[in-house]
Amino acid sequence: MEKDCIQQKSAKQSSADPKNQDFLKSKISEDTIRDCIFCKIIRGEIPCSKVYEDKEFIAFLDIRPINKGHTLIVPKIHCKDLLDFPKSEETDLVEVIKKVANAAVKVTSADGFNVGVNNGKAAGQVVMHAHIHIIPRFDNDGLKSWPNKKISESEMQEVQKKIISFL
Ligand code: 5GP
Ligand code: ZN
Repeated sequence: MEKDCIQQKSAKQSSADPKNQDFLKSKISEDTIRDCIFCKIIRGEIPCSKVYEDKEFIAFLDIRPINKGHTLIVPKIHCKDLLDFPKSEETDLVEVIKKVANAAVKVTSADGFNVGVNNGKAAGQVVMHAHIHIIPRFDNDGLKSWPNKKISESEMQEVQKKIISFL
């Protein structure tokens, strides 16, 4: 079975090293990492407009931005979505989001910003390597908010109870 979160394999790593057992569990994982567009960017195999990097994360401009300054924050470990995000060892991810968002807003003179993560195809995820969108927003930029649905009080209570019992 494919492991969802896998560290980039460095040239120094050896297959005999027990630390690499997770990586070696599956050939599919190796193929996934080799072909993943964001892993290619992280390895420097394809270019990107990088704006930030630390040990665990990289941030670069989206190639097809929703608005000027649209930036992606990407974990260097291959993982498919937010639920598989690795526990950060050194980086405070919220601080990175705030830092990058603040810079993107300031340099574009934006009026606000969205932080978004698309998880799964149904939610619009296209690149299956987890990433966080920082999207500067401008008054009257023409982008529409999500439409709302009506929900009955009983449905609301039912889903509330289910989520609480799952947590
Ligand atoms: P998703 O829908 O998966 O959340 O968003 C993926 C984002 O990655 C899209 O907004 C898309 O424009 C961006 N993207 C896809 N391929 C590349 C690439 O090669 N370079 C950069 N910088 N962005 C990319
Ligand atoms: Zn990847």
